[in-house]
Amino acid sequence: MAQRYNIYADNAATTKLSPTALEAMLPYLQADYGNASQPYSFSRSPKKAIKAAREIIANCIGADPEEIYFTSCGTESDNWVVAGAVDLGLPIVTSAIEHHAMLKPCEHALSRGHKVTTLPVNADGIVEEQTLENATIESNGIVSIMYANNEIGTIQPIQSLVKIAHSKGWLFHSDAVQAIGHLPINVHDLNVDLMSASAHKFNGPKGIGFLYIRNGLEWPPFIKGGAQEHGFRAGTENVAYIVGMATALQENVERIDGTSCHLTKLEQIIIDNLSSANVTFKRNGAREHIPGNISLSFPGASGEMLLHRLDLMGISVSTGSACDSQNTQISHVLKAIALDNEIARGTIRISLSRDNTESDAIYIASAIVSIL
Ligand code: PLP
Repeated sequence: MAQRYNIYADNAATTKLSPTALEAMLPYLQADYGNASQPYSFSRSPKKAIKAAREIIANCIGADPEEIYFTSCGTESDNWVVAGAVDLGLPIVTSAIEHHAMLKPCEHALSRGHKVTTLPVNADGIVEEQTLENATIESNGIVSIMYANNEIGTIQPIQSLVKIAHSKGWLFHSDAVQAIGHLPINVHDLNVDLMSASAHKFNGPKGIGFLYIRNGLEWPPFIKGGAQEHGFRAGTENVAYIVGMATALQENVERIDGTSCHLTKLEQIIIDNLSSANVTFKRNGAREHIPGNISLSFPGASGEMLLHRLDLMGISVSTGSACDSQNTQISHVLKAIALDNEIARGTIRISLSRDNTESDAIYIASAIVSIL
């Protein structure tokens, strides 16, 4: 099949910056470049922009503005949670399918003698309630379970997991980097204590994120220095990126139902086209998943080969395994859902966005069929 056009289908890795967000950012990179912490009138505009952005973001997730702390990315937000737990001496319970942004700092904490327990998931990638129930045996600690998984899209039963944690006196953090801006989220309804987000996953700029910290929770500061973010996360505010993040989030949240409907339709086109071409595949993850996130395993195939062949045909996807010269390494997520190695090797992740069209979906499916 000749290359037709470029199709970006790796939106779980990053998304395209919204033009509205870019436009909102520009003044703060040019004319309104003042340091938001300074008292003179030149800094009034960036200061006001940060205040408005905080309000918009809070409103998008049902929080209060003072519960939003800007960070440099989702990784930083997750690291803040682990560092805080270590500072407070709180044991951590997390899951085997968390992003490395959570697992690596947890491993580091564990290597320094901090108590960290990693829970298994079921074959759909779900942390079962009973598993958490059995793990939270001490009198306090913090549970950290991601809202939705980046590789297989599985959405966790966060509300019931929060209830279990709280009933044992444990705090609850959720890494919602893949969920915020894609699923309706209300932190007060969920009753979470902390939640991580990252702008570049919802059409905002790269290099900016936030941590939601529930009012009344005394969480230790992370980056020490100036008085920014009430002294909890020092560093001169990245005004343009903060504004871009708020604009993109608001735009995504306003369109969430329409986008979700569109993506469900595109997913179905891909699945139906593969099925009608008699391709053998397994779809990974739970029925409740992030719209547009499709993890597919093709027995006997190599995900790495598929990625490169699709790339040659103008399609960007990701794989669930990474080859080095000696071995194919199966991702920790595919291992955690106990996918047979032979099947896991042939896994790709297609993650669609509102910019993808029905003809993109048809082209992706026919490209996979032609390669296999
Ligand atoms: N958490 C999850 C679930 C993610 O998917 C990612 C990025 O892929 C991160 C955290 C890290 O976010 P960032 O790229 O903003 O550091």
